[in-house]
Amino acid sequence: MFIADADTGLRAVIAVHNTTLGPALGGCRMYPYASDDDAIRDVLRLSHGMTYKAAMAGVHLGGGKSIIIGDPRSAKTEALLRSMGRAIRELGGRYIAGEDMGTDPADMRVLRRETVSVSCLDVQDGGYGDPSPMTALGVVQAIRAALVEQRGSPSTAGVTVAIQGVGNVGLNLCRLLTEAGAKLVVCDSYAPSAQRAADVYNALVVGPEEIYSSAADIFAPCAVGGTLNPGTIPRLKATIVAGAANNQLADEDCARRLYERGILYVPDFVANGGGLIACAAEWYKTGSQKIEADVRKLYETCLSVLQTAAAENTYPVVVANRIVEQRLHRYGQRRAVTL
Ligand code: NAD
Repeated sequence: MFIADADTGLRAVIAVHNTTLGPALGGCRMYPYASDDDAIRDVLRLSHGMTYKAAMAGVHLGGGKSIIIGDPRSAKTEALLRSMGRAIRELGGRYIAGEDMGTDPADMRVLRRETVSVSCLDVQDGGYGDPSPMTALGVVQAIRAALVEQRGSPSTAGVTVAIQGVGNVGLNLCRLLTEAGAKLVVCDSYAPSAQRAADVYNALVVGPEEIYSSAADIFAPCAVGGTLNPGTIPRLKATIVAGAANNQLADEDCARRLYERGILYVPDFVANGGGLIACAAEWYKTGSQKIEADVRKLYETCLSVLQTAAAENTYPVVVANRIVEQRLHRYGQRRAVTL
């Protein structure tokens, strides 16, 4: 759905990729795309990823995403966000927004004035708050599963993890891994964030380009998408890749490149489902008590994907894609969402 509202200056796209398993939940991103084509490509890729993430996480949600074209620092106004909220409302519940790059819980509160189809609200607004700690907890499960598969033990004690991007998820990952005895190497394009990880978690800071070749057992992409590409994959020293970023691979062939280098890659949409599990609990009001236990189950999910891939002599993305496609197929034809 394309939106252009001359009154508020809103230019936006909402992509509903698939509603087989439930309404399409996905973040509302605000970013100054260089062209409409770039924006459309991004929203389609991201909404596709959300379908796969929801199906792997076992939640009753489909995949969607929305983008507002503009600079969040200068172009974001209440009128613009409310216009976006009305557009979301027009979809009649098929799409549920959440925070994403360029938006925050305060923006979700503004959208909520126009539509109920909003998740990831602050606790004070009736939500469960920031999902990032649960995303980080899910990434830890992915790392543990990969360690079992590759080394026979899930322990992260003494293991070195290189974290690319120490924002909301990355910093929570630093905390959990430090508690579990891991050593950290971090980078961030915003130097103060990397410094905070060094100060609080004793992480070794390297430059954004050095992170790929840093001496680490595990590489955890927690910044932007596409950082695993033909230029960076040959530089990796780590033998496991598991992180939070969406669309980590520049293209599907990169999964093969990782496999051929003997690097165990936990597909991003399997490893980073923890936050979505929290958002699903908020949306369906199933209570916050069970969230952590459900996120920890990602360990079994990841392990099963990795073991099946090993047994079939293929790479994990192939197996994870198949699981999602079978799950969608089992639910039959696309169905309308009941409101
Ligand atoms: P964030 O914006 O809080 O943190 C990202 C960090 O990466 C920032 O500190 C930024 O300065 C840094 N960064 C950006 N480009 C970089 C680069 N090229 N090299 C090094 N650092 C760079 O975002 P977040 O909420 O922590 O999410 C991180 C990633 O995980 C994103 O791709 C997001 O889409 C994905 N993700 C997040 C959640 C969640 O719960 N927040 C859930 C699923 C997926």
